[in-house]
Amino acid sequence: MVQSESPTGSTPQGQAAARPAVVRKPLPTAEIVKRVDYTHDLWSIWLKPDLPHPFTFKAGQYCTIGVDTVERAYSIVSAPHEPLIELFIELVPQGELTPRLYELKVGDKVTFRPSAKGVFVFNSKFTNHFMASTVTGVVPFVSIVRDALHKGLKGYEGHRLYIIEGASYWDEFAYDKELSAVAREFPTHFSFVASVSRPNEEKNREWKGEKGRVNMLAEKYIEQYKLDTASTLVYACGHPGMIEDVKARLLPKGFKLTEERFWKE
Ligand SMILES: Cc1cc2nc3c(=O)[nH]c(=O)nc-3n(C[C@H](O)[C@H](O)[C@H](O)COP(=O)(O)OP(=O)(O)OC[C@H]3O[C@@H](n4cnc5c(N)ncnc54)[C@H](O)[C@@H]3O)c2cc1C
Repeated sequence: MVQSESPTGSTPQGQAAARPAVVRKPLPTAEIVKRVDYTHDLWSIWLKPDLPHPFTFKAGQYCTIGVDTVERAYSIVSAPHEPLIELFIELVPQGELTPRLYELKVGDKVTFRPSAKGVFVFNSKFTNHFMASTVTGVVPFVSIVRDALHKGLKGYEGHRLYIIEGASYWDEFAYDKELSAVAREFPTHFSFVASVSRPNEEKNREWKGEKGRVNMLAEKYIEQYKLDTASTLVYACGHPGMIEDVKARLLPKGFKLTEERFWKE
């Protein structure tokens, strides 16, 4: 729909000339070509943007999608070389956009801003990259890992990525198999730890992996990996509470940190 902020047409006699009409171009759209649901409130979609030019971005950046006039930022799971834009979304039941996104199926369209944004990208000035995330906060790290693999690890020589992801339940990880497989195949470049924060709940009965909140585990793993402040950049993404706590624990020790908060508390 073309929206017009002021009326067009002839000026009635005796009235000041109407300001020129401001005609907003409709936003581009993207079609949902695939959808995978992991839990009742977590799912991924794959978008095919309808743009006159290729959609370019750096691994770790986000795109802006919407339904009607409600728009929100979503970090991109896919790496820049992939033909589709993959997003991993959490339903916020009281939210404005996600309940609408949740209703969409393959073939439906969302609005899609034509430029990617964000500075939460791989920083090659550091050799050690400690990447802490909660649930969907793992998204930028998946994109960075996929990009590194696509480049045959060119540009990543001497770098090591330590990814840690936390969730309440094991079925919220979604990308854990992919990241575990990469860590097994390229142990000199990647490590991956998934941790459930509610290990005693029935749903996590079978869970054999790490237990506890990411913020509590950050110090443990930084120590275990023997990471020093000069060579390490800490990336924290997702839940603002986790980010605040990781900062409170690691900044006084001298670590440098970059963050991407998914919402305000
Ligand atoms: C740079 C950036 C990247 C992002 N990437 C992702 C992503 O990859 N996947 C993703 O699912 N979301 C991502 N988000 C969050 C996303 O932009 C929306 O804020 C989120 O989907 C909720 O939108 P909504 O309109 O449904 O809720 P809103 O109407 O915006 O929010 C309703 C209320 O819920 C709170 N809230 C928002 N999100 C959450 C949440 N996840 N958990 C609990 N409370 C919340 C808000 O603070 C507000 O009080 C990102 C945000 C930013 C800024």
